[in-house]
Amino acid sequence: MQNNPLKALFPQLVGARPLIYLDSAATSHKPLSVIERTNQYYSNENANVHRSSHTLAAQTTAKFEAVRQQVQHFIGAKSDREIIWTKGATESINLVANCLSTQHLQTGQKILLSALEHHANLVPWQQMAQRFALQIRIMPVDDKGCLLIEQALQLIDSQTALVAVTHVSNTLGNINPIELIIKKAKALGAMTLIDGAQAISHLKVDVQALDCDFYVFSAHKMYGPTGIGVLYGKQVLLESMSPYQYGGEMIQQVGYFDSTFQGLPYKFEAGTPNIAGVLGLGAAVAFIEQHRALIDQIESELYAYLLQQLAQIKQVQLWGETKNSIALQSITLIGLNIQDLSILLSEQNIAIRTGHHCTMPLMQRLGLAGTLRISLACYNTFADIDAFMQALKNAVLQLAPDSAIQDESNVVVASELRPIVNILPLAQKIKAAQGWDSVYREIMMAGKELNRLPVHLQVAEYEVNGCESQVWLNCEVKEQHLHLQGDSPSKIVRGLLAIIFEVLQGQKVESIAVFDMAAYLHQLGLSRHLSSSRGNGLLAVVQFIKLQCELACAKN
Ligand code: PLP
Repeated sequence: MQNNPLKALFPQLVGARPLIYLDSAATSHKPLSVIERTNQYYSNENANVHRSSHTLAAQTTAKFEAVRQQVQHFIGAKSDREIIWTKGATESINLVANCLSTQHLQTGQKILLSALEHHANLVPWQQMAQRFALQIRIMPVDDKGCLLIEQALQLIDSQTALVAVTHVSNTLGNINPIELIIKKAKALGAMTLIDGAQAISHLKVDVQALDCDFYVFSAHKMYGPTGIGVLYGKQVLLESMSPYQYGGEMIQQVGYFDSTFQGLPYKFEAGTPNIAGVLGLGAAVAFIEQHRALIDQIESELYAYLLQQLAQIKQVQLWGETKNSIALQSITLIGLNIQDLSILLSEQNIAIRTGHHCTMPLMQRLGLAGTLRISLACYNTFADIDAFMQALKNAVLQLAPDSAIQDESNVVVASELRPIVNILPLAQKIKAAQGWDSVYREIMMAGKELNRLPVHLQVAEYEVNGCESQVWLNCEVKEQHLHLQGDSPSKIVRGLLAIIFEVLQGQKVESIAVFDMAAYLHQLGLSRHLSSSRGNGLLAVVQFIKLQCELACAKN
């Protein structure tokens, strides 16, 4: 489909210099219908729900509750009492992990998770496991990150209390065979929770057909507002669970010393809910239902095109499933640092995510520091993919001009042999550079001048916290003068370190204390090229250096 008719419905994606948005797995954009629905609430319908009896409150309450039924039908739940409003998938999982009790769990039982889980579907269970002395077991993946289903199923046994697994991996896009997992868990009496955060906007979900006990998702990943999400739970289980939070709305009778609580769903919804969010979610559900066939078609065409295009860059490595996948692809490029790629793509107006994607254990399992994740949604176009591919090729050329494949992890750093940076006019070169590509070329060239920290010192003791990329620093004060060594796996960060070192290296410690990094970056014209997190990372580096100088002074 050459022209995507849905794109025009998303105001932020049309305009003079439209954003190339490839980060929908983090949060999707919102169609005008959703934006207008939330506006309408604040403009014309603003009243609290379930409290006041005046006409406006009653009307708003009716609209609010109608969305509960809409969501019930959207996911095929038996009753609207099984739909609980939460802040999002994270809160939904926390709710379940906090409200299951000894009635549901016995010491020594197992909680089964997969190696693919988002931190939101790991950490709450770790806490629950500690409280109830349960054991966590992990369903394994292969070296590409695909679930090893035979082995996964074997782990489910009569000692399994709960299986919590993601429907779709947020990092790799894999659609997991949750039907098989749920079936085996049910047969052995284990509860099941499905994290549907990444599935809900791409797949038709029917919780009764799946027969899972819990299904969770967030509105903001399905074209809806932030701060609102859903916990679906089977009525009988939800009824057996104690409330999550206490206060207004969830009570029946309150005395000074004791209270009784409402039934479902209100017993889990203490306090004023996100009313605009719920109404916006209703509009998002309507949007998906209206356009489902078109959404499926657009996303599958785009994904096929993306895979075809990526195959043209020889350094690209694909992770996860490509056949059984939503329109999301994680890649790495042999020999290239993904933080560097991310910076260069961002400079070219490409919104994309790099890093561990809140799946640190999965990254460890795959032996990766992170991936570059391209996640598509119904508003993307072939032109977006072309723009991304062009930007990626530019970035690859800039990072590896001769396109020689070089694995930096194998490069021996002979930093002891390098002379300390002399007063090189790095700053001048940066200042004189015209355009983002020249600026970054100069930054990377500057990295060659860096006084590098020997590899054996690149350990936790020398690591600077608060940087987006890994940075190690060694600051020594010899006869009141500062001596710096540093390193990072990112070429760009190495260049930025060299630029900082240029002004600080060999200086007297008193002058370090008054050095104004932000002003310096501004003077070089660099601040507009650095994202706030990277700018903050550099500030963290300078803070670290200043602290080391203070400590050294205090010692003398
Ligand atoms: N689960 C998965 C698979 C996710 O991708 C995410 C968010 O990225 C979450 C859970 C948490 O969602 P939220 O931050 O909306 O609560």
